[in-house]
Amino acid sequence: MENSIPGIHHVTAIAGNPQANIDFYAGILGLRLVKLTVNFDDPTTYHLYYGDGQGHPGTILTFFPWPNARRGRIGTGQVTVTSFAVPDGSLDFWEKYLQQRRVNCKREKSLLGEEILALTDPDGLQLELVSTPHADPDRIWGRGPVPPEFAIRGFHHVTLAEEGYERTARLLTETMGFRLIESKDNRFRYTASSDSASQAGAIVDVLCTPAGRPGLVAVGTVHHVAWRTPTDEQQVEWRKALGEYNVTPIIDRKYFHSIYFREPGGVLFEIATDPPGFAIDEPAEKLGSHLVLPAWLEPHRAELEEVLPKVRLPQAKGVSA
Ligand code: ZN
Repeated sequence: MENSIPGIHHVTAIAGNPQANIDFYAGILGLRLVKLTVNFDDPTTYHLYYGDGQGHPGTILTFFPWPNARRGRIGTGQVTVTSFAVPDGSLDFWEKYLQQRRVNCKREKSLLGEEILALTDPDGLQLELVSTPHADPDRIWGRGPVPPEFAIRGFHHVTLAEEGYERTARLLTETMGFRLIESKDNRFRYTASSDSASQAGAIVDVLCTPAGRPGLVAVGTVHHVAWRTPTDEQQVEWRKALGEYNVTPIIDRKYFHSIYFREPGGVLFEIATDPPGFAIDEPAEKLGSHLVLPAWLEPHRAELEEVLPKVRLPQAKGVSA
């Protein structure tokens, strides 16, 4: 069987205040909160999932909000920038829209020549909106605050900062099926897609920064990036293929099944299955509208609701409360 990685599955980062996180990602950037649940490894804290209307793989940004934790440091061995795709011609809208909402943002031309808008979230996480004709117009949340024609269309790419890039490059190209498509100065761009028209969301940039300081994972930094695999069968194959990287057993994350390993530069990689998806425990129409717990925690709902910070959830347009 020929394994392939269709692209990014999700990116998971650490946030501070959960309300500020919801207000920014759902209330301003216009992603849908597709799941409000708890961190299965620490159920007294939330796990927030954002995405397009259905939470398709390739659109999902997730957060562990740790309200009392310290700020981390963005640096080598991390995903330093998470980049979303927006349709060509929409950056004028976004720049004005974000400025009106007092979000610092900056129009730039990227090293590889793309028009981008760089911004940071309330915890200092580095984001970009990349103007591209190659993003799927169906991968949006059409009932958020951003008009559908400008809405975020899933991920464009992630940037990994590495002290040295050779061993990471070898993993990407020789084992994971990526190929180098562009490079300039210290930036090397790889894609898992064979077709340039469907590249958005299948790109990883490796930034070689030998003099950079190592990152420290805490509030305002990315915890890991997950790559897609279409089936459980292919995931088993991946686990074999990645044997030398100390890969974990397959872990049931309820909405997908996961394996984890650290790439040679130190970034935590996950490979996550496309199925079963977010509609497994609440109807697609109701995604993110209330706290969902896994079955083994349901008996503790009352205690958990007592300790979890109260949050105000976003209201979808066209739905009465
Ligand atoms: Zn993950």
